[in-house]
Amino acid sequence: MQTKRRDFRWLIFILAMFFVSGNFTMLDAQPKKKKTARKQTGMRQPILPKIEYTVSMSKPWTHLLEVEMRIVSSAMKDETIIQMPVWTPGSYLIREYERHVQDFTAKVGNGEILSWQKINKNTWAIASKGALEVVVNYRVYANELTVRTNELNDQHAFFNNAALLMFPRDALSASSTLKVVPFGNWKIATGLPRVEGQENTFRAENFDVLYDSPFEVGNFKEVSFEVENIPHRIVFEGEGNYDMAKTARDVKKIVEQARAIFGELPYKDYLFIVNLRGGGGLEHLNSTALQFNRFGFTARYTDFLTLAAHEYFHCFNVKRIRPDALGPFDYSNENYTKLLWVAEGGTAYYENVLVKRAGLISDKDFLAGKASAIQALQNRPGRFQTSLEEASFDAWIKYYRPDENAINNQISYYDKGEIVNFLLDVEIRKDSEGVKSLDDVMRYLYTEFFKKNKNYTPEDYQKISEMMAGKSLKNFFSKYVRGREEIDYNSVLNGIGLELSTGDAAAREAAYLGADLTQEGERLNVRALPAGTPAYEQGLNTGDQILAIDGYRANQTFLASYLTDKKPGDKIRLTVFRLETLREIEITLGGRAPQNYKIAAARNLSEQQRKLYRDYLGAELK
Ligand SMILES: [Zn+2]
Repeated sequence: MQTKRRDFRWLIFILAMFFVSGNFTMLDAQPKKKKTARKQTGMRQPILPKIEYTVSMSKPWTHLLEVEMRIVSSAMKDETIIQMPVWTPGSYLIREYERHVQDFTAKVGNGEILSWQKINKNTWAIASKGALEVVVNYRVYANELTVRTNELNDQHAFFNNAALLMFPRDALSASSTLKVVPFGNWKIATGLPRVEGQENTFRAENFDVLYDSPFEVGNFKEVSFEVENIPHRIVFEGEGNYDMAKTARDVKKIVEQARAIFGELPYKDYLFIVNLRGGGGLEHLNSTALQFNRFGFTARYTDFLTLAAHEYFHCFNVKRIRPDALGPFDYSNENYTKLLWVAEGGTAYYENVLVKRAGLISDKDFLAGKASAIQALQNRPGRFQTSLEEASFDAWIKYYRPDENAINNQISYYDKGEIVNFLLDVEIRKDSEGVKSLDDVMRYLYTEFFKKNKNYTPEDYQKISEMMAGKSLKNFFSKYVRGREEIDYNSVLNGIGLELSTGDAAAREAAYLGADLTQEGERLNVRALPAGTPAYEQGLNTGDQILAIDGYRANQTFLASYLTDKKPGDKIRLTVFRLETLREIEITLGGRAPQNYKIAAARNLSEQQRKLYRDYLGAELK
């Protein structure tokens, strides 16, 4: 996509600038759009304006980022419409970034003040009265450090352009420059290329690129490495127990494993921004923002590596291998796709694959991770309510807003998506007798879709998987992707000599209440109730505060030990506060064998199973 479209836009930009300087009448210079054309554009394409931003941070302690936006148009307009994105790609929730905007003003290039009004939540209409140059100033309150928001304080600035910079309506294809005026002697890190000869000024070829390039500005530490002569930087903002040289060595191995899948690296340089607070990551075209516990680099170092591997793999899967609706983006509305289970779940699968292939975890660690993911899914009654495609599609209203009933009516497209992509990989390896794998599916999507400027559909993903498996996977997809059926794990895993077991077959059933409880200080509260458990079926409620069990004061430890002396079928009496009243509830305890999901070698292994396992995880199956 990038190469082809970039050429077009460059040409349009030159033409537009020519018209600006030469006062030519406006022409429809934009070529006809393909199927993936922007939703916002009408029949007649406007000539794109020239846009220059300046972002300053003169008083970091106020948490206000100062934005100047200079729009130079070739055509005189009575009204200039500008908008703030309401979400940012990679995080599928309407976040209403416009709510942090204040001190909005507009003027003509010569200083004459222009009037304006808001016409909806994220749209400003400026009475530009034919001015060719409009300058907009506003400030954005930035005091929330997450990977999809902005933070400015006396330590540093981290900002996402989608949460900061407005765009002229219908001009998302326009290129722009962004000048950053750092506070004091702060340094700047971003994936955007610098404009030569202009201090701290960067260039974005269109808004999808601009909005996909976060900035870290501060006194960060930095380490770099190269893969295939392509520079990669890791910047660490803040103190912590990280070892920069070791981290660079290990992250390099991860990058090399991704390169081995696709045969190339699709960028000129890559930047990892690491903030040592919060948690999580967000992927971008040639950068990523990561947040991790500053003292987690020894005890939880593998978690850091899988986080880095996840966001890095996204530079292929989702940023370039794009699901139908994900790019070009509509920044004012939800962008619906049924494919987040591949974009996110597939990436969650590959984060561990890359770390395993890089030699940073063992095959046993890898399989233990899969077993615990399966155990978590099997304890969610919501798996019978929501399919992977439904969970993907409804991300906008559900995934980021779980409530106490989520366990009963939802699944995560990350968690089940990881499991189903794992099973799909094993299935393809088995069906193709080890000739093909999910790597081939990813590679095909990269060369036949990304390289040909196409997004892929749910049907494409199934077809390509079938092409690699050499057989129909209709059953697999209709049951596990589009449907909500229980997964028959062993029918797939056995193909490479593995078997899932859920616990000790001889273990005695223990008494079981089935409520998810949380101890908050003195209070023992019911956090969630999985459907089908004794607690759920016999009338305990989420939000109940448990005061006593059989007349004894209850806390989490006491309750757990009290239940170990009970048998399935025994009755207990709970004294609870529900809303504002005290009440007693009698519950007959159920029985359940202790769970301990494991994936291990099956019995009577064939040579073929051993070979497929070796090909897959690079170790002997024992
Ligand atoms: Zn992700």
